[in-house]
Formats: sequence, structure tokens, C-alpha cells
Amino acid sequence: QPVIGVLALQGDVREHLAMLDRAGASPCQVRRPTELSQVDAMVLPGGESTTMSRLLEVFELLDPLRKRIAEGMPVFGSCAGMILLARQVLDGRPDQHQLDGLDIVVRRNAFGRQVDSFETDLDVREIEDGPVHAVFIRAPWVEKAGASVEVLAKVPDTPKTRAAADRIVAVRQGPVLATAFHPELTGDERVHRLFVRMVGAQVDA
Ligand code: GLN
Repeated sequence: QPVIGVLALQGDVREHLAMLDRAGASPCQVRRPTELSQVDAMVLPGGESTTMSRLLEVFELLDPLRKRIAEGMPVFGSCAGMILLARQVLDGRPDQHQLDGLDIVVRRNAFGRQVDSFETDLDVREIEDGPVHAVFIRAPWVEKAGASVEVLAKVPDTPKTRAAADRIVAVRQGPVLATAFHPELTGDERVHRLFVRMVGAQVDA
């Protein structure tokens, strides 16, 4: 079983640990560089990207994490995790750090006050057996994606989601996966299973 760390500085860490366990990985919490060096892959949870960015610096994880990602370690970021992985953030804090794992520009808190938090069903590429129920909580969306980024899901055009229809909310670039929503909160482990498969493919290669 691949050892997958969950960045445990802030955010919904426990939920990711539980889902990774159900998805067939061996999960552990990561707070120190020595812990990071022992994992095959990492999950960056949802929470508050500005706080996580600051804590990454305080816990001296920023550079080691950037280095592992640059070396090809698989990473999955949900919501705030997606923001951290992006190469650029719109409406972020000017001192917010980026991990540069994805060639995307994200807009923070993109859905605006009216639809601050909402749920919808999404068709997600690479995930079979029907749509994924997606929970969005003060979520970002992907404003721009580079040519090497695979778009996995877009917001559907329903009466409830019309203002955000067609916005990109799940992407993959090689070993890096990100969702604007929170698959760790719904009890459906298919997104985590996809990630565990990606990690397996990388570890075997
Ligand atoms: N709005 C948060 C941020 O900017 C993300 C919200 C979340 O992770 N649920 O970091």
C-alpha cells in the first residue's frame, strides 16, 4: 500500500485520512520535513489557504514540499489545497505562497456571496459509475489552465449553478490532482481511489 501523507497544519485532515484508508492507502499526518521525506505522496486538505501558506513557512515545510513536487511526487489538493498548488492566485493575499504544482490560475472564493457554499452533481473524467456529488465551500475555480493540464470537471448548467456554469473545478497535470470541491466530505471515495491509482502508477514506474 502506498504511504500517503496528509498535510496536518490546518483544515479537514481527519476526513482525508479516513478516505485514504478506505481507498486502500496507508495514510499518515505530515507536520515536519522528516515526516514528508517518508511518504510516497501527499494530500493538501481544504481549509484556509492563507493560513496554511503561513504555517508551511513556520513549520519549514514550504521548500521541502516544493522540492518533492518539482521532483514528481504525486499530490492531491482539495479546495484550499488546489489554491496552494496553483502557479497563480487571483484575489489571494499578496504574501500567499504557491507550491507551483499546477499550471493553473485560480480565483479564490470565486463563487461569490450568493452561492458561497453549494452542492451539485458533477461528471468527472477518469471517474466511472456515475456523477460525483460535489460539496463547494467558499471554493476557488480555475480561471486559466495551461495546455498540459487535463480538465476533469466543469460546473454544469443548472438553475442553481448557472452563474458558474462551465467553470473548471477539477484538474490533473501528470501526478498532480486538484478539486475545488471536497470529496473527503461525502463518503464517496472514488476521487481518493483515483489518486491512490495515480500514486500506484508512479511508485511502480
Ligand atoms: N476559501 C478558502 C481559501 O481561500 C478555501 C475554502 C476551503 O478550503 N473550503 O483558502
